[in-house]
Amino acid sequence: MMKLMMKHPPFEYSQAYARCCDEADPLRGLRGEFYLPVHQGAEVLYFTGNSLGLQPKTVRAALETELEDWAALGVEGHFRGTHPWVSYHKRFEQPLAALVGAKPEEVVAMNTLTVNLHLMLASFYQPEGKRTAIVCEAGAFPSDQYALETHLRHRGFQPEEHLLELVPRHGEHTLRTDDIVAVLQNHADRIALVMMAGVQYYTGQAFDIAAITRAAHAIGARVGWDLAHAVGNIPLHLHDWGVDFAVWCSYKYLNSGPGGVAGAFVHERHANNVDIPRLAGWWGNDEHERFKMQRSFRAARGAQAWQLSNAPVLALAAHKAALDVFDKTSMSALRAKSVHLTGFLEYVLRTVMGHRVQIITPSNPDERGCQLSLLVEKQGRQLFEYLTQHGVVVDWREPNVIRIAPVPLYNSFEDVWRLGELLRAYAAMH
Ligand SMILES: *Cc1c(COP(=O)(O)O)cnc(C)c1O
Repeated sequence: MMKLMMKHPPFEYSQAYARCCDEADPLRGLRGEFYLPVHQGAEVLYFTGNSLGLQPKTVRAALETELEDWAALGVEGHFRGTHPWVSYHKRFEQPLAALVGAKPEEVVAMNTLTVNLHLMLASFYQPEGKRTAIVCEAGAFPSDQYALETHLRHRGFQPEEHLLELVPRHGEHTLRTDDIVAVLQNHADRIALVMMAGVQYYTGQAFDIAAITRAAHAIGARVGWDLAHAVGNIPLHLHDWGVDFAVWCSYKYLNSGPGGVAGAFVHERHANNVDIPRLAGWWGNDEHERFKMQRSFRAARGAQAWQLSNAPVLALAAHKAALDVFDKTSMSALRAKSVHLTGFLEYVLRTVMGHRVQIITPSNPDERGCQLSLLVEKQGRQLFEYLTQHGVVVDWREPNVIRIAPVPLYNSFEDVWRLGELLRAYAAMH
């Protein structure tokens, strides 16, 4: 942590400091790649890239290319299009592999996040004898909870008994890695699967994926990660960490548009196992036989074997344009800026709000991405509405949290300073 802190001058709450950081920021030009929404004639302060990333300006042209091919070629677009649709999903192997730290054949862009989670659970939740339990963090994103609960019920198990939820210590908001590992060891012969968020959507805590994966494997369990809030936010090395599978969506930090196409990772030790149980569709079939319309499924090699349907090209066109923006930088450059920018936000919040808010996100940069979650016990909703009226886009999560995510691709240090000024005015009135 000290080392990270040394990379930039000590924080200072001033516009001059913020501007100085922006001028020194090698990524400052990337903001111009995105459309910023406007509120009462001025660009908003957008801190909600953790919910819906901004639209890259290149998306429209990428969509038009596919629309024109469709208009001009009809069905022939599958083979003669600018980017032939029959192999469209392959455009995502390299860029997604780079973002999650995988081999190209270990990743695939397909479906939506919850669908992918179900597909992965069908393959990787394989209860056997006493080993039936699934472990997740308490307060997991509702869709993940529903997916886990329904897979348990599907196999005839009651979630109350077979879903083990990791709960923070009394008086704490986030989980300690040692405590997680202890739970795994204490239930070593009961656990079939550990399925957690890489970065928790509510608290903003980034879990130690490598250590938890190791601990889960040591007790003979499988491990899957929901990376909705991790991908494009923190550096990931899924292959080297030995993660069994992972899923994510593309509309948060990956900026690929509402309901955008999600992704999945399957480690190569499983991805090339054609006998693994799965829910199959024709696009996961060996591509050389896909159009022979044969009776029996023959799995393709790699994560693409989990595909169900032919690719949603229009949504994928937006996804590809959005991923191309990441090619202009690297996760390590984004992360370096992110650590500084979120550290500045934390400093500003403490300076102007003092004890009015409690930040429940860990203050150690290694344990968080860009998001800070503010616990606002009293009149939190009022603070949220004040910010909204002043052109600040943050979000409110029931029962009492405001999430603020400065995204290194398009947020500036001056954005954070301007938020600080609004909060200072608010604090003076309350
Ligand atoms: C955003 C998010 C989802 C959303 O699921 P969709 O299937 O994309 O609607 C699910 N799980 C987590 C952890 C999320 O953060």
